[in-house]
Amino acid sequence: MLSPLVAGLNNPANRFQAANKLAHFFGCLHLFVFIVDREIGILLPAPGFPQTLPNGKFWQDFTLGCSKNGHHQGLLPFPDANTLQESVGILGPEQSVIVFLGGTPTHEQIRPLIEILPILINLFTRELVEFSTQARIDLADKAVTKAEKLAATIDIMRVHLKDALVEQKKDKKAIEELMQKKDEFMNVASHELKTPITITKAYLQILQKLIPPQENTTAGDFILKANKQLGKLTALINDLLDVSKIHAGQMVYHFAEIDSKNLIEEVVAQVQVTTQTHQIIIAHNVPAKINGEQHRVEQVINNFLSNAIKYSPGAEKVIIRSDINDNTVKFSVRDFCIGIPIDKQQYVFDRFYRVQESSKNFSGLGLGLYISAEIIRRHGGTVGVNSDASGSEFYFTLPVLDA
Ligand code: ADP
Repeated sequence: MLSPLVAGLNNPANRFQAANKLAHFFGCLHLFVFIVDREIGILLPAPGFPQTLPNGKFWQDFTLGCSKNGHHQGLLPFPDANTLQESVGILGPEQSVIVFLGGTPTHEQIRPLIEILPILINLFTRELVEFSTQARIDLADKAVTKAEKLAATIDIMRVHLKDALVEQKKDKKAIEELMQKKDEFMNVASHELKTPITITKAYLQILQKLIPPQENTTAGDFILKANKQLGKLTALINDLLDVSKIHAGQMVYHFAEIDSKNLIEEVVAQVQVTTQTHQIIIAHNVPAKINGEQHRVEQVINNFLSNAIKYSPGAEKVIIRSDINDNTVKFSVRDFCIGIPIDKQQYVFDRFYRVQESSKNFSGLGLGLYISAEIIRRHGGTVGVNSDASGSEFYFTLPVLDA
């Protein structure tokens, strides 16, 4: 009678129904078999039995009781969490656990089943290994499919990326060509402008000489003003030419020994005659020898002084000084006006940068400080600015020659 019922357990597809029939044979409602999954080392429902059970913690404690004591009795929830059934479980071969629900057959009653349990547990364990192997193969198959899709996507992206890079290179090249053309244009335009200015200056000189001394007042005034404007224009064009040279790497320096004290005195004298509003005061002037191109270092001091005068219209003085510290001469020019906001100070030496607050009422290209910084850098020095609401101090340092 038992044999056909046990034979029903052979097929995992309807194993649970067959197990229930077997349970009825022993006067119970359900029969569950748990076997140890060798991979993860825990008890799991054997293949063909429900894999998720209501209130799993109850079941876990129950099977643990069987494993520990060889048998266990109590209530188990099935088929739902609210239906508690009288249950009994025993420890089987290979640490397996067999649980009867809805009845508590004695050990004697189930002895015939216990005798054939090793065969059943062996079968279930083999199935479990096969299932998990199959599951792993399925997983690997899925992973391969995913990897193939991913590889295809990466290939497409690689093509897109390559296209984008080619485009970017083209764009970069186009921009570089445009920048080069712009530099060339600036260079040519500046040179072209210089010639008429020189000629105009020459005509103005002739004109000046043609005016009889007694009629000099009005006409002479005009000539003076025209000359001043031409001077401004020349300075702007020179700045543009310098920028072109810097970009083309053609700013050539002829280094020689310079006396820094004389240098300051000379530039101050040159700039002082251009202003009637400000007095340039030399506060301190150290005698030091520096190595550089006189004309270019003069240009930097000139730029600092002219800016100090230009950007402090209400002030009356500008102070220049030179000091020696650690084999370095520091030249600084201080003015007394609104100063430069702290967050903008770091940009003033950039090309074409103009501080809105200080420059809105004055003409300029934002190139003087950029050129100055480049000149000082090529002389092995540094430039900087300290500025607050009381005014600004622009400075540069140069190494002392043979200190
Ligand atoms: P430009 O004077 O032609 O604008 P510069 O490169 O000489 O160009 O100066 C850059 C900017 O730095 C100026 O536009 C101005 O905003 C600011 N700046 C330079 N010197 C001073 C100064 N002494 N006081 C206040 N702002 C200054």
